[in-house]
Amino acid sequence: MAEILTIAGDRVSGILTKDAVPAAVCRDGDTVIFETRDCYDDAVVSEERPLGEKENAIENPATGPLYVEGAMPGDVLKAEILDIRLRDWGVMRSSTMCGLFCGDFTERSARIFPIRGEECPEGPRGEAPAAGQYIVFDEKIRLPLDPMIGVIGTAPAGDGITTDTPGSHGGNMDCKRIVKGSVLYLPVNVPGALLSVGDLHGLMGDGEVFICGLETGGRVTVRVTVVKGGAAHMIPTPFLNCRGRVMTIQSAADLDEAGETAARAMKEFVKRALQKDDLAAGMLMSLLSDMAVCQVVDPLKTVRVEFPLAVLESHGYRLP
Ligand code: CA
Ligand code: CA
Repeated sequence: MAEILTIAGDRVSGILTKDAVPAAVCRDGDTVIFETRDCYDDAVVSEERPLGEKENAIENPATGPLYVEGAMPGDVLKAEILDIRLRDWGVMRSSTMCGLFCGDFTERSARIFPIRGEECPEGPRGEAPAAGQYIVFDEKIRLPLDPMIGVIGTAPAGDGITTDTPGSHGGNMDCKRIVKGSVLYLPVNVPGALLSVGDLHGLMGDGEVFICGLETGGRVTVRVTVVKGGAAHMIPTPFLNCRGRVMTIQSAADLDEAGETAARAMKEFVKRALQKDDLAAGMLMSLLSDMAVCQVVDPLKTVRVEFPLAVLESHGYRLP
């Protein structure tokens, strides 16, 4: 079997842009591994030096971009998250500028958490499988991990967008449902799509209120497929299929707008997938859909609306 195409962790950028030189080129349907750094550019490695060890650390570095042959504007890129493997430590750092509680702090502090688990290899910087992993927060609190991807996006058509910001291209959505086994649908805005991945979290609560999750690096295995034609036009990107639920993910300056945009995107999708009118789709949404806050701490705030996949499939709809 041929070796899987791997994009090394030194191919990182702080901006998603159509002008980026591809770090790798793959074919439609290929599987690719992204080696990612943490959101501090791997610079915060000790609690004694919370400001980090690098002069010019990239904020929220994303690995890539990956050029997918055959992907053209108007298509949808289907990214199947086949695996997320974390390195064996994570880090959290307080902020005096960002996050709901930033005014509580006059200086930055960091905590380093070893990631533990039966299968975790020894050594301070090794790579560990996700299954059964946990951190010890204190002597009474042990937290099982649920690894997720904070930043995953394609290049926008116009100006580049920094990797701290979410949007219609994906980016820093900080959606805790982007996990191993989920399938993310992103817009193709430029030839090749130019997919980038970064900002892994070992664990994060909805909202990410403090400003960070358990920030870490690792390896993300993604299979990329180009969806074309009517099937692509059905999908309100960014769109996620995770654990039996489909989700619209929308970002805006405030939560009200993000929530309404996500709900309206899901209603239009439900209408078309189930061939219902506004009345029936709206009632079904009110009965079955859950609205949740992904994050409230990035330059735009992000909301997702979830709907059960089984209801769509009972009407014969199949996701591409
Ligand atoms: Ca993030
Ligand atoms: Ca993060």
